[in-house]
Amino acid sequence: MAIELLMSSCLIGQCCRWDAKNGRSVVTPRLHLMLNHGQVAVICPECAGGLDVPRPAAEIEPGKNAADVLSDNARVINTEKADVTAQYVAGAKAALALVKKHNIRVAILKAKSPSCGSREVYDGTFSGKLKEGRGVTAELLASHGVKVFDETQIDEALALLDAMKASQSEA
Ligand code: SF4
Repeated sequence: MAIELLMSSCLIGQCCRWDAKNGRSVVTPRLHLMLNHGQVAVICPECAGGLDVPRPAAEIEPGKNAADVLSDNARVINTEKADVTAQYVAGAKAALALVKKHNIRVAILKAKSPSCGSREVYDGTFSGKLKEGRGVTAELLASHGVKVFDETQIDEALALLDAMKASQSEA
C-alpha cells in the first residue's frame, strides 16, 4: 500500500525526545493498521538533522518565527546557548524530502515542538510560555502544501485524508 501519512516519531512511542523519555504513543486502532500496512512514514526531524538523544532543549529565538528561521533571519538556540539552526533546518528538509518522495499531503506532528509544532510553540524565553506559530519542520511542510495536524487532531487529519482519496478516485 502507498505511504500516505507522515507522523512524528515520538507520537508512535519512539525514544527521540530531547529529554530521552519515550514519546507517549497516540496510535489509535486505525493508525495501528496503517502503520502495519506501511502507509505511514515516520520521522524525528531533530534526529534526522543530526541532533542526539538526549539533547538540550531548544527554542526559536524570541520575537521570531519558523519562517524567519527558514529564510535565515532567525536562530534556534538551545539552553546551553548553542546555535542549532542548521540541524533544525536540515531536519525540516529531510521531512520535506520524505513527503515529496511519497507525495504525502497530510502530516500528524507533535504539538508545541520547535520542529513539529503546528499551532503553538514556546516563545524563545525558556519560561514555558507558548505563542502562536509553527515549528521549523511544520512550517516548511505547510509552505509546500502539506496539511499539518497535531496529536489532538487525529480524527480530523484522517478525515481529510479520506476526503482527498475519495476526490482523487472520482477524478
Ligand atoms: Fe522529534 Fe518532532 Fe518528536 Fe521532537 S516533536 S522528538 S523533533 S518527532
